[in-house]
Parts: sequence; structure tokens; C-alpha cells
Amino acid sequence: MKNILTAIVLLIGLAAMLPGEEGMYPLSEIHKLNLSSRGFAIEPGELYNPSGVSLVDGIINLGGCTASFISPDGLILTNYHCAFGAIQSLTSTENDYLRDGFYAADAAGELPAPRYTARLIESYRDVSREVLAVLKNKMTHAERSKAIEEKIKRMVVAVEKASPGRRAEVAEMFRGKTYVLFVYANIKDVRLVYAPPRAVGEFGGEVDNWAWPRHTGDFALLRAYVAPDGSFAGHSPQNVPYRPKKHFQVSAAGVQADDFVFTLGYPGSTHRHKSSHYLAYEEEVRLPAAVDLGRWIIALKEKMSATDRDTAIKLSASLQGLWNSVKRSEGQLKGLKNLGLAERRQQQEAELQRFINADPGRQRKFGGLFARLDRAYADMRRRASRDTALDNLVSRRYSIIMGNAFAICEASVERAKKDTQREEAYMDRNFERSEQQMTLALRNYYEPAEKAVLGELLRRAAALPEGEAIAAVRDLAGQGDPEKALAEFLEKAFAGTQLKDPAVVSAWLRKTSAELRALDDPFIRLAFALYPDYREMREAGKREKGVLDPLLAQLVDAKKEQQGTEFIPDANSTLRLTYGRVRGYSPADAVHMQPFTTLSGIVEKTAANPGVEDFSAPQKLIDLSAAKAHGAYAHPALGDVPVAMLYDMDTTGGNSGSPVFNARGELIGLNFDRVYEATINDFAWDPSYSRSIGVDARFILWSLDQFSNAQRLLKEMGVQ
Ligand code: ASP
Repeated sequence: MKNILTAIVLLIGLAAMLPGEEGMYPLSEIHKLNLSSRGFAIEPGELYNPSGVSLVDGIINLGGCTASFISPDGLILTNYHCAFGAIQSLTSTENDYLRDGFYAADAAGELPAPRYTARLIESYRDVSREVLAVLKNKMTHAERSKAIEEKIKRMVVAVEKASPGRRAEVAEMFRGKTYVLFVYANIKDVRLVYAPPRAVGEFGGEVDNWAWPRHTGDFALLRAYVAPDGSFAGHSPQNVPYRPKKHFQVSAAGVQADDFVFTLGYPGSTHRHKSSHYLAYEEEVRLPAAVDLGRWIIALKEKMSATDRDTAIKLSASLQGLWNSVKRSEGQLKGLKNLGLAERRQQQEAELQRFINADPGRQRKFGGLFARLDRAYADMRRRASRDTALDNLVSRRYSIIMGNAFAICEASVERAKKDTQREEAYMDRNFERSEQQMTLALRNYYEPAEKAVLGELLRRAAALPEGEAIAAVRDLAGQGDPEKALAEFLEKAFAGTQLKDPAVVSAWLRKTSAELRALDDPFIRLAFALYPDYREMREAGKREKGVLDPLLAQLVDAKKEQQGTEFIPDANSTLRLTYGRVRGYSPADAVHMQPFTTLSGIVEKTAANPGVEDFSAPQKLIDLSAAKAHGAYAHPALGDVPVAMLYDMDTTGGNSGSPVFNARGELIGLNFDRVYEATINDFAWDPSYSRSIGVDARFILWSLDQFSNAQRLLKEMGVQ
């Protein structure tokens, strides 16, 4: 008996020593995992059970983030940075929720978070055969993409028609190969309940973003509401809290170093099954261009924000998004270079090519694969600068006014088509949402920034070499001094446009192309002038997808034959399970990172950075720490409240807000970030550098209890 016990203890110890594992498992793969051998103390049916209640029922798809239910009355836990859009849009200089935090003392004080929806998975099924059945031999590449696109749209519309209040999505799992139809309940009334002050929710700011050691209390609480009859109605004072099938107990049980953890969430996208061409393209073309423009806009907007609080509030969401993606891109560039990822993948492909060449059957199936990938990417590179310049010009990400003008113009063309032949954004099922995005974006309209950014985008587009010129931009820049011509256009256009008014945006979004042209608005005119080039670029994109999809499908098949294994599909914003252990790491020679940070660490960083806004913890937090007011939330070994923790689960963007569970399925943390070295996860995961970061649940409970006295919420969560 003693020997058996020793063996068990040894085995558990050994499991704790094993490196973490790559893998974002879709629902369809969960039953293939031997859960107990990996460290789970729950059964597969507790994780996912389509005919009963399981953990999956408590997981929410919250736009680009994940969230989860933590009370029977629809209370939602997610990251501060995921709720940021809501907090920011409710903030004004009078009610500065960014600075002070937000706590609704009662239900009436919970404020609508416009644009937020909570989606819950109801069912999924493989529809690959139905989707691929639309392909015919004689189709061109562009026709293939369009046929698949339209088939998917028809399926989705049919499902939504048959089940009101539901949202359907067909996700491409392996490109050009497998498709899964997901049906979601779609809750449309989501309200803000609690947010810590930004000095807690974003403590460390951009310096600490994508970094460890981390002391950010990146959490916030929302609530889902439905109509009294249970239907998923838009915001209304009559609505009542939603009662979820499953909610999680936020637990102070905590975890220690080497403990097993897992998460369920909606990771956005990874690119591990793409070829070396893609990695080289990212490294040499796309990422450097995105970083260059991002840095330029950040510098501009930070300067504009420095002296005026109102401007700073307006620009804060855009700056936060820019910083997040620029720093991630820089981390990825560094990782791509340092690890030589593109070359490594080239070597693997050379080996795969030898494997293909060694067998005539394989040669027939996969022979021209890499030569065709070479050609497809060479074509993409040829078009890259022009495509980027054009895409940036029409995107609301950079210029709200120009982005809206272009969408209005495109809507007039698309809405003249049959619903399932339109671009996604203009289909009936998406129209209201697109309109809302456009009008709400104007809340952050700040003209000097708009003018400067659009000016820069035009200047960059005007500098394209002769053969790549964008006709509309060339015409604007004129023959003489382009600088002067563009400046004159901007002055006149911003003075003359009516598009600063959300009511105008809504009304124009319903106009025909002829009606719009007759208005003679300067931005609408420019949008129509850009449109033919844009349409050509979009068509080229569809052609390219038609070329690449079957090639990428072949690549996966060839690798499967070579390695004799099945692969897990890349992340694609569908629900995934991943697991690992709480673990430190070593980012450099002689450096070892511990896996927990503490409340005292916040105080320490504040003291070390006097006057630096990003490192100025609220005085109350400092006082509570000094008084050792830890409540019931101290980490026994650390003798302090743990703030953030590190683990080797396989996560990416979109896993923000994913609940972190211990082996028994209790919620002990909240995922929010990765370390700098792990930004490269999207291309290649590795146990040595892939570490994700979560807020420890003990800090969340401590904040609600000691820092904010939010007793009504703790009671609701079953904590007190
Ligand atoms: N903080 C990250 C994000 O919001 C989450 C991640 O990518 O790991 O993108």
C-alpha cells in the first residue's frame, strides 16, 4: 500500500515537472483527451455536455473577449480592458469612471454598455460536406471563394430565421477543409456593474502591458439582462437579470506553483498551420508597416492627450488599442527574428518536400504545393504597399470620418444586391450593428486628430511609386505641390462635411448611390472615387483566398501523412479548452521569474515611480496594504494578497477574460495577457517561453471586499 502511495505521489510530482502542452482543443476534440492523465479532477461530461449542464454553459463570447457568469443573476466577470469601451463611453469629466472606478450600489445604478453582447454556445455541428459541395471543377479561384462565402451566408440566415434570438456562425476550422456551424444565444442588454479605477485595472499601463512581473487588477463586472418573458431584447428598463444555466463560484481556494489549471475561452487567431511564406511575409512586410504607422499615430495622440482631460478621454480607447497591437507586433517581430521561425519552417518544408518526392502517389497529390505557394505570396508581396495604403484609408480604425464615409458608399452598392450576396457588414442580420458601430464611433470624434491622421494616410498613399498609384489620391494631390493640395483638401473637407453628426450617418446609410452622389459631401466624393480601386483589391483578396485555401488544406494533409498524427486547428474565435500549470520561466540567462506577484508589489512599483501616472496606485490601496488588511485572501506561503499569476497554458488574444479553473473546475483566476516572449505564440508555441498571465481570484475578491466595500456583489456571488 505504502509503495502504491509513494508511486502515486511520485507520479503526481512527475506530472507537475512535465513541460506544458500546446493545444487549443475545440469542443469536438475534448472527448479524445484523457483528462485525468493530464491533471483534471473532473469528468469530460462536466466540461461539456450537450444534453445537460456543463462548464461550457457558463462561458460567454463577449465580442473579441471571453467572459463568464459568476452568479445566478447573470453577473459577468471579464477583464477591465475588455470592458474598457463601456467604461470609457460612460465616462465624462463630471463622472470620471476611468479615474475613480465604477460601482453600481444597486440594480438601478447598473448602466447600459452599448455595443456589448453576450453570446452563449447552444450547439455546433460539422457542415464541411455541405459547404464544400458547392464547389465545381470549372470554377475560377475567385468563384470558389464566393461560392463558399455565399453558401455559408445562406446557411446562417436560414438557421437564424428558424430560431429567433439566436446568432449562427460558420467557422472555418482548417482552411479550405473543415467548417463548423455554431449556434449562439445572443444576449443584447449588457450593463456595467463594477470597474476598479484605471490605476488598478490598468496599473503599469503600456510599460507593463505584455510583460511580467505584472501587478494589473485587470477585471470588471457586467450583467446580462433579458426581457421579462426571457427573450433576448435590446436594452429596456423593463428587462430583468438573465438567469444562466451555469455560473461559477469565484473561489479564494487559490493555486500554488506547479498546480494544474485550465481554461475555456474564445482565442481569436493563430497561424501555426500556415507555411513559411506567411511567416516571412509577416516579418518582412506586414508587421513592420503596421508598427511604423501605429507608432506615428500614438506619438500624435499622446501629445494631444497630454494637456486636456476631455481630449485624453476621447482618445483613450483608440490609444489603448494602438498600444496593445503595436507592442504585440514588436514582440512578434523580435521573436520571429531571434528564433529564426521562418527559416525553421522552411527547413521543415524542405523535409516535407523530400517526403513528397519519395513517393509517386504523394507526388501526384502534393507535387506542386510549394511552388504554388511561392507564386501566391510573390503576388501578395507585389501588391502589399498599395493594398495597405488603400485599406488604411478606408478603415474606421484610423479615421472615423473617412471610415464612415466609405462604409456609407459601400453600403449603397451592397444593399442593392440580394442579402446573401452582400459583404457581411451590410447583410440584414448585421446592418443594425454596423450602423451602431458607425454612430457610436463618433462619440470619440476629435477633429484635430482626425485631420492629422487622415492627412498622414493620404500623404503615405500619395508617395506610392507611379505604377502603384491610387487614382483618387493622385487626383487629390494634383500636379503641383501635393503637400499643399492635400492640406487644402483637408481644410475644406472638414469644414464642409455633414458626417460629424450621427443622425446624418444613419440617414445616409440608407441612401442609394445616386442619392449619395447628389449630396456632394467631400468625404463621400472621395469614398466613391476610391471605390473602384478598393473593389478591385477586394476581388484580388477573394482570388487569393481561392488559391490559398486548397493549398493550405493540402499542406495539412501532407504533414499529417508525414507525421502520422492529427492536428488541432488554429484558433478562430471558437470555443477552445486549454490546460497547463502555474509556472515561472526564465526569459534570459540567470533570470528566473516567480509565478505570483503581490499587493506589496503594487506599492513597491508605485514608490519606485513617483509621479508616473501609470504607476500611481490609489492611496486607499496603499493604506490597506500597509495595514496588512488582507481579509481572507492572503496566499499562505507569500503572506500577502496575490495579484497576478503566471501559467503555461496555450492562449492568445480573445482568451482575455477567460476564467482560469483549478483541477476541480473552481474559478481561481482570470486570464488577461501573455508575457512579451509569448507574443510569438500566434506563430509557434513553446513550453520554454509560452506563459500567460491571469489576475488571481483572491485579488478580485479582496478588491470587492476591502477596497470597494461592494458587499452586495460578494453576497450575490455567494462569497459572504
Ligand atoms: N492582453 C491580450 C490581448 O488583449 C491577451 C492576449 O493576447 O494574450 O490581446
